[in-house]
Amino acid sequence: MIDQGSPPDEEILAEFKRRQKKQWMTLPFAMLAMILLVSVDEQSGLGLGGLPAMPLSIAAIVLILGVMAFSLKNWRCPTCNAYLGRGMAPRYCRKCGVQLKR
Ligand SMILES: [Zn+2]
Repeated sequence: MIDQGSPPDEEILAEFKRRQKKQWMTLPFAMLAMILLVSVDEQSGLGLGGLPAMPLSIAAIVLILGVMAFSLKNWRCPTCNAYLGRGMAPRYCRKCGVQLKR
């Protein structure tokens, strides 16, 4: 199936672009989770906004799980539905070899 000599399929490129855009939108949520976690001061047990560590940690975990669940659903090849891995900018699908980016 790997035929890198032929021109890329415009529809696949467009769909990948949409998915990549959505994937970038998870970044602020992941960052917020990190901020919540690092804001906790171990001595006082308080974090962002003077809130106790426990609800902050739970909120961070919920955010991280949400981002992960979303990525697992969203970050897939438009053609064969294989998970695209950790990189944010794959040029080809590792499974079916379809071109995702110009
Ligand atoms: Zn694929």
